Amino acid sequence: MHAPEPAPAGHSHSVDPDELVALEVHRREVLSRVAPLEPIELGLLEAHGCVLVGDVVADADVPAFANSAMDGYAVAAGDLHDGVELDVVGEVAAGAPDVVEMRPGRAVRIMTGAPLPGGADAVVPVELVDEGPGRVRLRTAPRSGDHVRPPGGDVRAGTTVLPAGRRLGAADMGMLAAVGRSQVLVHPRPRVAVLSTGDELAEPGVALRPGQIRDVNSFMLTAMAREAGATAVRSPIVRDDRRALAEAIEGALSHADLLVTSGGVSAGRYDFVKQVLSQLGDVAFRKVGMQPGMPQAFGFISGVPCFGLPGNPVSAFVSFEVFVRPALRRLQGRTDLNRPRVSAVLDEPLSSAPHRVAFLRVKLRRSDGVWHARPTGPQGSSLLHSAVDADGLAEVPANRTDVPAGETVVVHLLVSQ
Ligand code: AMP
Ligand code: MG
Repeated sequence: MHAPEPAPAGHSHSVDPDELVALEVHRREVLSRVAPLEPIELGLLEAHGCVLVGDVVADADVPAFANSAMDGYAVAAGDLHDGVELDVVGEVAAGAPDVVEMRPGRAVRIMTGAPLPGGADAVVPVELVDEGPGRVRLRTAPRSGDHVRPPGGDVRAGTTVLPAGRRLGAADMGMLAAVGRSQVLVHPRPRVAVLSTGDELAEPGVALRPGQIRDVNSFMLTAMAREAGATAVRSPIVRDDRRALAEAIEGALSHADLLVTSGGVSAGRYDFVKQVLSQLGDVAFRKVGMQPGMPQAFGFISGVPCFGLPGNPVSAFVSFEVFVRPALRRLQGRTDLNRPRVSAVLDEPLSSAPHRVAFLRVKLRRSDGVWHARPTGPQGSSLLHSAVDADGLAEVPANRTDVPAGETVVVHLLVSQ
């Protein structure tokens, strides 16, 4: 167990509350400025996970013809009695194009899925007959309709099988195929460009030079964007240089529906991201009343929403959760923008900076039907393990600095949905 840390050092102590934009204000503004992407027709499997635009209506019955639900014998149930013996006059397999005609007193060997012969209205499973050469004895006489799948038994022509707004799951893929759709109109997955900025950053896999650290954020944020339903591409590390930054951003934007940068948005001398983003487009910088993740850039360049997230990995992580993930879901036409939440009793006290909504990484456990939360160790915004170990983000309101053990907090669950 770790003792809760005091508020991490840095901006938190020097912040002027009048400079802060409330978290909800910023979030609402971000979300009000992004809209679902233009619908496109996609092939079925490409559309998996996307939100449907317009109802899908069956244009024909499924199944289209009466067919057998069992391997057995097709008969006319009419006036059969238990123990009746019938002549077997043919056989019909699944996919057989021409349907055998059958007369009373006769039986046709039939396979599961095969079209029911004309005149037949029941199937007797092979397990319930005694087979002889050219003859079959039905131990029990069937009733009309037994083991027959009628036309339209699954879907009737004209029914809405999938409503507009539905996110297409695996069974839906099957249904689309069942009604013969090879393409479907959906909001596409957003293409997200992710880039990290910083002279100190090095790719994993190469030796670190003195003063260097690994580029953590671009990998993490690309993965987060993918988990949020986007197709995301990570750009190579961008140096703290205005020209290089402008070129990298413009290059990334040429094939993106959303841009996420990290680093370079605070008060450092080489924090050029602010400058470059606002030169290229309409991007505003704010100090948002949250911890971690106070400096936030958001706006549009050539119509593409751009997020400039702070560089500390946990700040970037939390900022993505709070602003980028819901925006990505809105772009996909989803209306469930937020993570599921639970109320949890604190097993350890929490502390946070004044005037800011804190998102503390917590581990959850369930006991006697109640969720309990405790911080995942020290909560500094550069301490990535606090996020790795987390089941959720506990939210501490802006007007609280210390929350004692035993109090209940809201926890946003970091689960995939
Ligand atoms: P900045 O916002 O650029 O001032 O960065 C704040 C802190 O985050 C500094 O300690 C940076 O070294 C660190 N940082 C910035 N970008 C990354 C990154 N992509 N991966 C890991 N740490 C980063
Ligand atoms: Mg930097």
